[in-house]
Amino acid sequence: MNCYECSQSGRTAQAVAVCKVCGAGVCSNHVRTEPKTLRGPATPGKMVHNQEARQLTCPVCRAAEQSS
Ligand SMILES: [Zn+2]
Ligand SMILES: [Zn+2]
Repeated sequence: MNCYECSQSGRTAQAVAVCKVCGAGVCSNHVRTEPKTLRGPATPGKMVHNQEARQLTCPVCRAAEQSS
């Protein structure tokens, strides 16, 4: 798969990740990594997992999440 962001500007780059939100392939230049705290039943009586997960998104979805 090729990077969607790069293809928009007429370039071709190998995608190294897939945006979790929109599903677009993103190269190492365009991938956005952020820590994501998992919520859900971890252990009884504790709703937040100790270890942070990772979320990979494209620049567009990252900007959209920050705008909300
Ligand atoms: Zn790219
Ligand atoms: Zn996206």
